[in-house]
Amino acid sequence: MSAEKLIVAKNLVKIYKRGRSEMVRALDNVSLEVHPAEMILLYGPSGSGKSTLLQLLSGMDKPTEGTIEYRGQDITTWSDADLTKYRRDEVGFVFQSWELIDHLTALENVEVPLYPTKIPSGEVRTKAIQLLRKMELLDREEHYPKELSGGEQQRVALARALIKEPKVIFADEPTGNLDSETGEMIMRMLKIVCRQGTAVIIATHNESLRKYADRTIKLFDGKMARN
Ligand code: ADP
Ligand code: MG
Repeated sequence: MSAEKLIVAKNLVKIYKRGRSEMVRALDNVSLEVHPAEMILLYGPSGSGKSTLLQLLSGMDKPTEGTIEYRGQDITTWSDADLTKYRRDEVGFVFQSWELIDHLTALENVEVPLYPTKIPSGEVRTKAIQLLRKMELLDREEHYPKELSGGEQQRVALARALIKEPKVIFADEPTGNLDSETGEMIMRMLKIVCRQGTAVIIATHNESLRKYADRTIKLFDGKMARN
């Protein structure tokens, strides 16, 4: 494991208001460190706070208490514009539902995150093709999402998450809608990505994914138990 720290989160508390008076303590004093090229599994039952933690670490929401340093800078103090930049340039997302764009081909879906940039289109295409090759999808590049299996769609989504070369990938139940064999394939792909230098943080309630992780962090009722 690299000694360099990519993310250092300390004493995170997240309290949601539900209705007029009820408070939900979704995270209760959670601290963790993420190193480059490390695969961390956030494991716990439904409602234990996994998605909440991913949302805080990825700058989609702010904690009620606590700090989150990304390469030494506390992102909880950042402006919305800085957080947008962080999500755009540093972070990749993979969700349970892959949310590909129906009227674009697999190749175009992978290219989408680079459309608003100044990178020449030929370069974008080359990168997208390389990523599809890495995901073992090269023969599917002209297919539309509805012509692809669930596992293939998830691999397109993973290639899309990778095209901006994020430092860290957050994956929320990435195998949740897949059969176990296809889910294992996604995990193997994530592992390859991880070994090439990207940190990967996966939230799951699926115990069988633990074997892929360098480290598992167990959440229960918003609290952490490392093992
Ligand atoms: P997990 O991803 O492990 O299933 P979540 O992080 O989604 O858990 O939820 C943790 C707890 O916080 C749950 O009790 C959930 O109902 C609550 N919660 C999550 N998001 C909100 C929200 N936006 N408003 C109110 N309560 C929420
Ligand atoms: Mg969740």
